[in-house]
Amino acid sequence: MNKLNIGVLSLQGAVREHIQMIENSGAHGVSIKKPHELSKIDALIIPGGESTVIGKLMAKYGFDDAIKELYKDGMPIYGTCAGLILLAQKVVGGNKYTLGLMNIEVRRNAFGRQKESFEADLEIPGIGKNPFTGIFIRAPWIELIGKDVHVMAKFKGKIVMAQEGRLLVTAFHPELTGDKRIHDYFIEMVKKS
Ligand code: GLN
Repeated sequence: MNKLNIGVLSLQGAVREHIQMIENSGAHGVSIKKPHELSKIDALIIPGGESTVIGKLMAKYGFDDAIKELYKDGMPIYGTCAGLILLAQKVVGGNKYTLGLMNIEVRRNAFGRQKESFEADLEIPGIGKNPFTGIFIRAPWIELIGKDVHVMAKFKGKIVMAQEGRLLVTAFHPELTGDKRIHDYFIEMVKKS
Protein backbone atom coordinates (compact mmCIF):
# COMPACT_ATOMS: atom_id res chain seq x y z
CA MET A 1 0.00 0.00 0.00
CA ASN A 2 1.23 3.50 -0.76
CA LYS A 3 2.15 5.63 2.20
CA LEU A 4 -0.28 8.34 3.18
CA ASN A 5 0.91 11.91 2.63
CA ILE A 6 0.35 14.02 5.72
CA GLY A 7 1.00 17.74 5.23
CA VAL A 8 2.25 20.11 7.91
CA LEU A 9 1.37 23.76 7.39
CA SER A 10 4.79 25.42 7.32
CA LEU A 11 4.13 29.11 7.84
CA GLN A 12 5.54 29.27 11.37
CA GLY A 13 5.98 27.01 14.39
CA ALA A 14 6.88 23.42 15.21
CA VAL A 15 6.96 21.95 11.70
CA ARG A 16 10.05 19.72 11.62
CA GLU A 17 9.07 17.85 14.77
CA HIS A 18 5.66 16.98 13.31
CA ILE A 19 7.23 15.74 10.09
CA GLN A 20 9.53 13.48 12.09
CA MET A 21 6.61 12.07 14.10
CA ILE A 22 4.57 11.45 10.94
CA GLU A 23 7.50 9.52 9.48
CA ASN A 24 7.84 7.55 12.75
CA SER A 25 4.16 6.65 12.41
CA GLY A 26 4.78 5.18 8.98
CA ALA A 27 3.35 7.93 6.78
CA HIS A 28 5.08 10.49 4.60
CA GLY A 29 5.42 14.00 6.10
CA VAL A 30 5.11 16.87 3.63
CA SER A 31 5.96 20.46 4.45
CA ILE A 32 3.27 22.74 2.96
CA LYS A 33 4.43 26.25 2.09
CA LYS A 34 2.05 27.16 -0.74
CA PRO A 35 -1.71 26.55 -1.08
CA HIS A 36 -1.31 24.59 -4.34
CA GLU A 37 0.78 22.02 -2.43
CA LEU A 38 -2.34 21.05 -0.46
CA SER A 39 -3.48 19.02 -3.46
CA LYS A 40 -0.68 16.51 -2.78
CA ILE A 41 -1.82 15.49 0.69
CA ASP A 42 -4.36 13.17 2.34
CA ALA A 43 -4.54 15.15 5.60
CA LEU A 44 -3.15 18.28 7.22
CA ILE A 45 -1.56 19.17 10.56
CA ILE A 46 -1.66 22.79 11.71
CA PRO A 47 1.22 23.12 14.19
CA GLY A 48 1.78 25.16 17.32
CA GLY A 49 3.30 28.61 17.09
CA GLU A 50 1.53 31.94 17.37
CA SER A 51 -2.06 31.66 16.19
CA THR A 52 -2.29 35.35 15.25
CA VAL A 53 0.84 35.10 13.09
CA ILE A 54 -0.13 31.82 11.43
CA GLY A 55 -3.68 33.12 10.92
CA LYS A 56 -2.52 36.31 9.23
CA LEU A 57 -0.15 34.40 6.95
CA MET A 58 -2.89 31.90 6.13
CA ALA A 59 -5.19 34.72 5.04
CA LYS A 60 -2.41 36.51 3.16
CA TYR A 61 -1.48 33.48 1.06
CA GLY A 62 -5.04 32.25 0.52
CA PHE A 63 -4.65 29.13 2.66
CA ASP A 64 -7.87 29.70 4.56
CA ASP A 65 -10.30 29.20 1.66
CA ALA A 66 -8.21 26.37 0.22
CA ILE A 67 -8.16 24.49 3.54
CA LYS A 68 -11.90 25.01 4.15
CA GLU A 69 -12.66 23.71 0.67
CA LEU A 70 -10.55 20.57 1.11
CA TYR A 71 -12.03 19.97 4.56
CA LYS A 72 -15.51 20.09 3.03
CA ASP A 73 -14.37 17.52 0.49
CA GLY A 74 -13.29 15.15 3.28
CA MET A 75 -9.75 16.05 4.32
CA PRO A 76 -8.95 15.35 8.02
CA ILE A 77 -7.14 18.07 9.97
CA TYR A 78 -5.22 17.91 13.25
CA GLY A 79 -4.40 21.16 15.11
CA THR A 80 -1.90 21.39 17.96
CA CYS A 81 -2.02 24.39 20.31
CA ALA A 82 -2.09 27.41 17.96
CA GLY A 83 -3.53 24.96 15.40
CA LEU A 84 -6.35 24.17 17.84
CA ILE A 85 -7.11 27.90 18.17
CA LEU A 86 -7.13 28.29 14.38
CA LEU A 87 -9.68 25.48 13.96
CA ALA A 88 -12.11 26.81 16.58
CA GLN A 89 -15.40 28.47 15.74
CA LYS A 90 -15.00 30.84 18.66
CA VAL A 91 -11.98 32.26 20.48
CA VAL A 92 -12.60 34.04 23.78
CA GLY A 93 -11.08 37.48 23.60
CA GLY A 94 -11.30 37.35 19.83
CA ASN A 95 -8.94 36.22 17.15
CA LYS A 96 -9.75 37.68 13.80
CA TYR A 97 -8.21 34.91 11.77
CA THR A 98 -9.60 31.45 12.36
CA LEU A 99 -10.84 28.76 10.04
CA GLY A 100 -13.90 28.32 12.29
CA LEU A 101 -14.35 24.64 11.41
CA MET A 102 -14.73 22.99 14.81
CA ASN A 103 -17.68 23.51 17.12
CA ILE A 104 -15.61 24.55 20.14
CA GLU A 105 -14.95 27.74 22.04
CA VAL A 106 -11.35 28.17 23.21
CA ARG A 107 -9.43 30.47 25.49
CA ARG A 108 -5.93 31.45 24.45
CA ASN A 109 -3.02 31.32 26.93
CA ALA A 110 -5.55 29.91 29.35
CA PHE A 111 -3.26 28.23 31.86
CA GLY A 112 -1.96 31.57 33.10
CA ARG A 113 1.28 33.48 33.07
CA GLN A 114 3.11 31.77 35.93
CA LYS A 115 2.52 28.44 34.27
CA GLU A 116 3.53 29.41 30.75
CA SER A 117 4.90 25.97 30.07
CA PHE A 118 4.70 22.71 31.95
CA GLU A 119 4.43 18.97 31.53
CA ALA A 120 1.62 16.83 32.84
CA ASP A 121 0.68 13.17 32.63
CA LEU A 122 -2.62 12.84 30.83
CA GLU A 123 -5.08 9.97 30.80
CA ILE A 124 -6.17 9.50 27.19
CA PRO A 125 -8.22 6.28 27.04
CA GLY A 126 -8.65 6.64 23.26
CA ILE A 127 -4.94 6.03 22.62
CA GLY A 128 -4.16 3.42 25.28
CA LYS A 129 -3.76 2.70 28.96
CA ASN A 130 -0.42 4.36 29.70
CA PRO A 131 -0.46 8.06 30.47
CA PHE A 132 0.71 10.49 27.80
CA THR A 133 3.15 13.27 28.67
CA GLY A 134 1.45 16.49 27.65
CA ILE A 135 3.83 19.39 26.99
CA PHE A 136 1.91 22.64 27.34
CA ILE A 137 3.43 25.88 26.06
CA ARG A 138 1.27 28.96 26.60
CA ALA A 139 -1.53 26.59 25.85
CA PRO A 140 -5.21 27.24 25.27
CA TRP A 141 -8.01 25.15 26.71
CA ILE A 142 -11.43 24.35 25.33
CA GLU A 143 -14.23 26.03 27.28
CA LEU A 144 -17.33 24.92 25.39
CA ILE A 145 -18.07 22.13 22.97
CA GLY A 146 -20.84 21.42 20.51
CA LYS A 147 -22.88 18.24 20.72
CA ASP A 148 -20.83 16.26 18.20
CA VAL A 149 -17.50 16.99 19.86
CA HIS A 150 -15.93 14.05 21.68
CA VAL A 151 -13.73 14.94 24.66
CA MET A 152 -10.56 12.80 24.60
CA ALA A 153 -8.59 14.28 27.50
CA LYS A 154 -8.89 16.74 30.33
CA PHE A 155 -6.31 18.31 32.60
CA LYS A 156 -7.48 19.79 35.90
CA GLY A 157 -11.04 19.63 34.62
CA LYS A 158 -10.24 21.54 31.42
CA ILE A 159 -10.63 19.97 27.98
CA VAL A 160 -7.23 19.66 26.30
CA MET A 161 -7.92 17.11 23.56
CA ALA A 162 -11.03 16.61 21.45
CA GLN A 163 -12.30 15.20 18.19
CA GLU A 164 -15.22 16.14 15.98
CA GLY A 165 -15.54 13.88 12.96
CA ARG A 166 -12.36 14.36 10.94
CA LEU A 167 -11.06 17.19 13.13
CA LEU A 168 -8.63 16.42 15.96
CA VAL A 169 -7.16 18.99 18.37
CA THR A 170 -4.71 18.97 21.27
CA ALA A 171 -3.82 21.95 23.46
CA PHE A 172 -0.42 20.32 24.07
CA HIS A 173 2.50 19.31 21.84
CA PRO A 174 2.87 15.56 21.21
CA GLU A 175 5.48 16.27 18.52
CA LEU A 176 7.87 17.36 21.30
CA THR A 177 7.71 13.97 23.02
CA GLY A 178 9.03 10.66 21.73
CA ASP A 179 5.52 9.26 22.00
CA LYS A 180 3.91 8.74 18.62
CA ARG A 181 0.51 7.47 19.81
CA ILE A 182 -1.42 10.64 18.97
CA HIS A 183 0.11 10.81 15.49
CA ASP A 184 -0.77 7.11 15.09
CA TYR A 185 -4.33 7.90 16.17
CA PHE A 186 -4.59 10.72 13.62
CA ILE A 187 -3.22 8.53 10.85
CA GLU A 188 -5.82 5.87 11.72
CA MET A 189 -8.48 8.61 11.47
CA VAL A 190 -7.15 9.46 8.02
CA LYS A 191 -7.28 5.81 6.92
CA LYS A 192 -10.91 5.56 8.05
CA SER A 193 -11.99 8.84 6.46
N1 GLN B 1 -0.18 31.03 22.85
C1 GLN B 1 -0.15 30.72 21.46
C2 GLN B 1 -1.33 31.35 20.73
O1 GLN B 1 -2.18 31.90 21.34
C3 GLN B 1 -0.16 29.22 21.24
C4 GLN B 1 1.10 28.65 21.78
C5 GLN B 1 1.51 27.37 21.10
O2 GLN B 1 1.11 27.06 19.99
N2 GLN B 1 2.41 26.68 21.76
O3 GLN B 1 -1.39 31.29 19.55
